[in-house]
Amino acid sequence: MPRDTASAEALLKDIFGYDAFRPGQGEIVDAVTRGENVLAIMPTGGGKSLCFQLPALMRPGVTVVISPLIALMRDQVRGLREAGVAAGALTSGNTQEETDAVWDMLHAGELKLLYLAPERLASGGTQRMLSQAGVSLIAVDEAHCVSQWGHDFRPDYLRIGELRRALDVPLAAFTATADEETRVEMVGRLFDGVPPTTFLRGFDRPNIHLAFSPKDGPRQQILGFAAARRGQSGIVYCGTRAKTEALGRALREDRHSACHYHGGMEAGDRRAVEERFATEDGLIVCATVAFGMGVDKPDIRWVAHADLPKSIEGYYQEIGRAGRDGGPAETMTLYGPEDIRLRRAQIDEGMAPPERRQADHGRLNALLGLAEALGCRRQALLAYFGETAEPCGNCDLCDVPPELFDATEAVRKALSAALRTGESFGAGHLIDILRGTETDKVRDRGHATLPTFGVGKDLSKGQWQALFRQMMGHDLMRPDAERHGALVMTERARPILRGEETISLRRDIITKAAERRPAVKALVSEEHAPMFSALKALRTALAKEAQLPPYMIFN
Ligand code: ADP
Ligand code: MG
Ligand code: ZN
Repeated sequence: MPRDTASAEALLKDIFGYDAFRPGQGEIVDAVTRGENVLAIMPTGGGKSLCFQLPALMRPGVTVVISPLIALMRDQVRGLREAGVAAGALTSGNTQEETDAVWDMLHAGELKLLYLAPERLASGGTQRMLSQAGVSLIAVDEAHCVSQWGHDFRPDYLRIGELRRALDVPLAAFTATADEETRVEMVGRLFDGVPPTTFLRGFDRPNIHLAFSPKDGPRQQILGFAAARRGQSGIVYCGTRAKTEALGRALREDRHSACHYHGGMEAGDRRAVEERFATEDGLIVCATVAFGMGVDKPDIRWVAHADLPKSIEGYYQEIGRAGRDGGPAETMTLYGPEDIRLRRAQIDEGMAPPERRQADHGRLNALLGLAEALGCRRQALLAYFGETAEPCGNCDLCDVPPELFDATEAVRKALSAALRTGESFGAGHLIDILRGTETDKVRDRGHATLPTFGVGKDLSKGQWQALFRQMMGHDLMRPDAERHGALVMTERARPILRGEETISLRRDIITKAAERRPAVKALVSEEHAPMFSALKALRTALAKEAQLPPYMIFN
């Protein structure tokens, strides 16, 4: 039975107030809702509670939750009730009235989640009551408590297997303890040794190669990446619906089997793509983030991001669709200053309350930090999820360690150019000032007389662009959505400006941008020059009208 994704997502938002599943949650929710026996191992803080609370709402009748600590149970019951869910607990900490109220709801068939202390299982009364209460699922939190050799052993957990046999309903067990011995014991005692559907979700996915690349002719970058992996199944995540269609077309023109997928398509068309992707070998789907929930193809060999995702969680989730079979998988995430501007603007223009917006900027910063990482990317990614790791040997920065240089002086010049012009301009104008380029705008504003005018002639325009992008990546400057993306300095930049801190940046990115391929203009013959100019003008006009960066129109 396929899950009704719309309603699981609706519950996720409406009841729990989350925008998206955490890594791993979606699949576990699926399996538990379908009524499979499940053993889910996820790190602490990974969001295990949701993986039984949400299915409990999707399944008929009541879900019994066995949990080892009264405090944990009370917290969860309180949270659920506040969200309008009929939940109750039977523990030794209850008053008589509380217990009576829970019984009443249970008998009336109104209760959706019944938290039960394991000690309760010892009473024949409880077992009888449960067998008449319409229980449809047993969830076991902190399931490692069933392991006799673990430090958390709870003898009453040994009765859970018996309860499962008596009620003959599916059981879902959750723990953060991942060692092999404990796992074998949990399967033996909770599932009578019949292996359940098992989810082992540490955050590391060592088979996935991680790589980021600044946008530099992004369409060609995607086509090149796909061409090097011809015949493999892959996903290209795009920032807009229009781009999914454009890139799908470009890939087909390049003799790939490719299609697009986004939330604006008819449900039937979307399902057709999902089915094709599941059954066909070597299909490429160009998609927005709408593509993913229903996708559990194990042999997706690569995931590319044509645009920067909106947060580090989103990034992790999207690349995590690759290589589920454990085989080698590759990823490439493109990003550029337009992405940063767009993502910041989306957060600022959203309806979220201020503290939420603050958090969203933080998650975007985490992703930008990863994009501009100076060392192993996996280390940085896992650190975000609270795990420590050695350099992985399977990311672009482990493959070729970046060369760093002391960028303090250049960064200070850039910051002072911004400050001296009232933090009212974007990178393009600031670069003109730094390089001493007398554009009309520079002249009209009187910026040719600034002390910073021409102090940055030593770097090319491309190098300055790379430097500004890295500065945004390190959150030293932010585009201000309310002033058309004008760059403003952040608190983080102050110590650098004051000379109290130095900063190293990556030289490879800087030289790479500087070594751009020759301008297309130089390749156009005289005969075609007028056509080329007309096309460029058309692109500029279309971009202006659509309020998109020109590269999104065509390259
Ligand atoms: P665990 O049991 O794995 O330790 P919890 O279920 O207690 O994790 O969840 C940890 C935290 O993550 C909680 O604060 C919870 O509200 C939050 N959380 C869970 N799922 C999500 C989600 N999909 N999006 C955002 N936050 C979530
Ligand atoms: Mg927990
Ligand atoms: Zn690495």
